[in-house]
Amino acid sequence: MPTQVPCPHCGRPVEWSAASPFRPFCSKRCKLVDLGDWLAENHRIPCIDDPVDEDLSPPDEARSIH
Ligand SMILES: [Zn+2]
Repeated sequence: MPTQVPCPHCGRPVEWSAASPFRPFCSKRCKLVDLGDWLAENHRIPCIDDPVDEDLSPPDEARSIH
């Protein structure tokens, strides 16, 4: 019985053999998507301008006190 590993992207079982050329991914699509996510994460780190930091509004509880 061939060894099976879960696809890192979608979790589907992937047969660990020559029958699965994209292992440990289940398909070329999963491989590309996962690689794309990884690259996107890597490229996001140098971007220091995060608009979320400037959008800090006080929580509703603090406003209801007054
Ligand atoms: Zn997959």
